[in-house]
Amino acid sequence: MTLSFPASRLRATLKKLAALYADMDKAYTAAASAAGLDCAGCAENCCLSFFQHHTLVEWLYLQKGLAALPEDRRTGYERRAREYVDAAREAASRGETPRLMCPVNDDGLCGLYEHRLMICRLHGVPNVLLGSMGVREFPGCGPCQRLADGRELKAMDRTPLLRRLAGLEMELWGSKPGRPPKVDLTLAEMIVAGPPGK
Ligand code: SF4
Ligand code: SF4
Repeated sequence: MTLSFPASRLRATLKKLAALYADMDKAYTAAASAAGLDCAGCAENCCLSFFQHHTLVEWLYLQKGLAALPEDRRTGYERRAREYVDAAREAASRGETPRLMCPVNDDGLCGLYEHRLMICRLHGVPNVLLGSMGVREFPGCGPCQRLADGRELKAMDRTPLLRRLAGLEMELWGSKPGRPPKVDLTLAEMIVAGPPGK
């Protein structure tokens, strides 16, 4: 399916996503600080975790970040993304959950930090999500759980942030017929595919 959006709507939606990401970062920093969680020097790099992402608007934001990179960096990430996708398929064919380093991670540092996706911004601290299926609770990453050591840490409520993201997806879609297509892609798959609908 070819997907295109009016340039002014795309610009406005991505601007609102940048503001939402800033609010996510603020909420995460407050929760991490309350828990005493610090990623510096963490030996359990969560950039090895297998995550999928679910919105066109985040996919487009990621592509915007990629497009702004110098060509050699971008082509390097594209090559690593293709390798990631192949290795993830092989792991899945063996019935394993892939455990592979994110293709834009450079020696422990995120090469697309300003354009990283929601999961990268919120992973780590305990959080809750209230949805139509009830309350979903996430205990936080391993280091955070060990840090809590039985203490009850206040969970960050992801619900309003996710609602805003869902709202932006609909805003981007505008008055097109139907609903936005379902997205279930790893960051590597988003890079290999290029912009959505290409
Ligand atoms: S979020 Fe948790 S697992 Fe990931 S780097 Fe930070 S402390 Fe480590
Ligand atoms: S986009 Fe950045 S923060 Fe997210 S998994 Fe990749 S390297 Fe880690």
